[in-house]
Order: sequence, then C-alpha cells, then structure tokens
Amino acid sequence: MNRKNISILSEIEFAGRYTKAKTICITGSNGKTTTTLLTYHILKKAGLNVGLAGNIGKSFAKQVAQENFDYYVLEISSFMLDNMYQFKADIAILLNITPDHLDRYNYEMRNYVNSKFRIAQNQKQEDHFIYCADDSETEAVIADFAIKAQIHPFSIKKEVTNGAYALAQTITFNLNHSDKLTMSLSDLALQGSHNVYNSMASGIAAKILDLRNATIRESMSDFKNIEHRLEHVAKISGITFINDSKATNVNSTWYALESVNTDVVLIMGGVDKGNDYSMIKDLVKQKVKAIVCLGKDNKAIHDAFEDDVEVIVNTFSASEAVEVAYHLAKKGSTVLLSPACASFDLFKNYEDRGNQFKAAVREL
Ligand code: ADP
Repeated sequence: MNRKNISILSEIEFAGRYTKAKTICITGSNGKTTTTLLTYHILKKAGLNVGLAGNIGKSFAKQVAQENFDYYVLEISSFMLDNMYQFKADIAILLNITPDHLDRYNYEMRNYVNSKFRIAQNQKQEDHFIYCADDSETEAVIADFAIKAQIHPFSIKKEVTNGAYALAQTITFNLNHSDKLTMSLSDLALQGSHNVYNSMASGIAAKILDLRNATIRESMSDFKNIEHRLEHVAKISGITFINDSKATNVNSTWYALESVNTDVVLIMGGVDKGNDYSMIKDLVKQKVKAIVCLGKDNKAIHDAFEDDVEVIVNTFSASEAVEVAYHLAKKGSTVLLSPACASFDLFKNYEDRGNQFKAAVREL
C-alpha cells in the first residue's frame, strides 16, 4: 500500500490471477535472463505450448489476454517479487543471492534475501523449488523459510540428491521419479562455471516436466546465447575481445574473470552501486595485467586495485577504451569488457555500452 491506501501489484501478480498455465519462475541476483532463455528454448524444442515473459520479452498480461499458452517461463526481478502476494510458481528457480540493489532494502542484506525467497512463499507440496546448494546466502537461510515445495539443489562442489551436480566434467541429473541424465560439460552451449549452474537449473526444470533426455541434451547444446553476456566479439592479432557489458555488479565480473583462461586486460567502471571489490581481488591479481577504466569517476577502482595491477588507465569513451586495451594486450590474451558497474554515466544503457564496444573493436 502507498500513502493513499491504494495497493500496488506487480504485473506477475496481476496477470497470474487470469491464467491457469503452469509457471516456471526464475529469480536470483545473476543469471536470470540466461536461465530464462535457456529454459524457454528447452521447453519450446520439446514441443510445449510455451510463452516467455516477466522481465523479458512481451508483457505477461498481454499474452495472458491474447494467447493461450500452457506454460510460461518468467524472469522475475526483485522489483516484481516485492509486489507479489498470492501468485504461485509451479516451478521456482532461485539461482543465487549476492548483494545488488541494496539501496532498495535499507542496505539490509536480510531484507534482500527475504525478498528473493518470496518466490517460494505460496508454493505447495506438489510444486518445485530449485536452488544452488553452493550459494552461501541461500544455504544459510533456506531452512528458515519452511518451504513446502519439493526441493531440488544443484552444485558443482558435491553430489546432491533429487537435483543435479557437475563433477569431473560431467553433469548428472538424478531427480527422484525420473530416469538419470548425464551430459558432458564440453557439450554445453554455455561455457564457464556460472553457466554450468544456469544449465543445471534449466535442466532440472525440464526433468521435472518429464521432457525426454535426448531433447534436453540437444537443446542445452544448441542454445545460442544472448548479446552482451560473455559474448565473443572477435579475435584480432591473436587478442580475443569479449563483451560482457551486462555484468553490472562485482559478482558477475567475478564469473567473467573466472571463465577466461588467459591474461586479461579488463575494461571496467561506470556507475558504482556501492561495490565491494575485495571479492575479485584474487582473480584480478592472478589474471589481470591492466585495467582500463571506462567511467566518469574511477577513484574506487584505482583505490581497490592500485597495489594489484601495474597499469590502470582512465578512458571516457568505448572507442578510447578499446584502443588503449588493444595496445596494452599481448598476443594470446583477452580484452574483457566486464564493468561491474551500471552504464548510465557515459552510455544510455548496458546495450548501448556493449554495442559501442563491439563497433570500436570492429574498427581496429
Ligand atoms: P541477469 O538477468 O540476472 O542480470 P544475465 O543472464 O543477464 O543475468 O547475466 C548477466 C551477467 O551475470 C553475465 O554476463 C555473467 O557475467 C553473470 N552471470 C550469469 N549467470 C550467472 C550465475 N549463475 N552466477 C553468477 N553470475 C552469473
């Protein structure tokens, strides 16, 4: 309720009241769009009558009014969760919880965590809750929420039951009441350990829906990733350029750095939402040879990394950043745009930043 006593509903809450379609709802701090699109791809390939909505694609309400889908894959942001009351997810996926948008939660992590768990609040025994068993924030509190749905963990660190795990280069799905599915990590379309998590989450949803193993395997290997997320742009003079403009927080940049196996020239910066850079310090020390700042105010980046990286340069446009990075990079290394910050100091949005980066790379 706001001050005038008018209740505020999110679109999901509103439209959800007018459809009987089964919903697969994906939330978390990072990986939502990727996991939503991958899940949608698998369901569609399996021949289900499925719509895509939420924070992505066409309006959920409009589709409920005009289409007749049996399933919806919904990307759910914290903003939507905060105004969601009776809505029930048939299958909920909580990918991870890392500090983001804390300004909306009085800078209290617990408020943010509570908000994420609203995804499970109305679930019943016949519903399903999929979560990352390696995520410390989730693990620490999951027991407090007395989730009624059937629980399916996923992990890259340990064997779990009734879920999925990735060990020794192989993913195993071992859901109760369903035949086992194994898949080699090298067959996944999406590479990098963050994407192993995303693929496991999507695959569990597909197994819950009893889709055929062959379909799940095939769609997880022919999926085409979306722009601006660890997007390979070009290789020029032996230097690989990667556009990860969508990485607007430190956690995303951690995964981007982790997924690169060469020396890195890191282009980062922009509008900092209260970043704590300590989490990427080790990876930066290991892999990053130079940082090219791309933002109006780069002080926090200089302060965080001045002892770890020899060269830190300020630039104020995508083309300048690309040129400087190109000169600093050596053959065999990677120029990675993974800013850890929002973009609106110098760009319209992250897409604009990514597009300008790609255009500049192509002009080298
Ligand atoms: P979201 O929609 O939640 O913002 P995206 O799927 O658009 O997430 O991915 C944004 C960035 O987050 C990616 O470029 C990648 O660097 C990082 N990322 C993707 N999946 C994960 C994950 N499971 N855990 C942590 N970081 C991730």
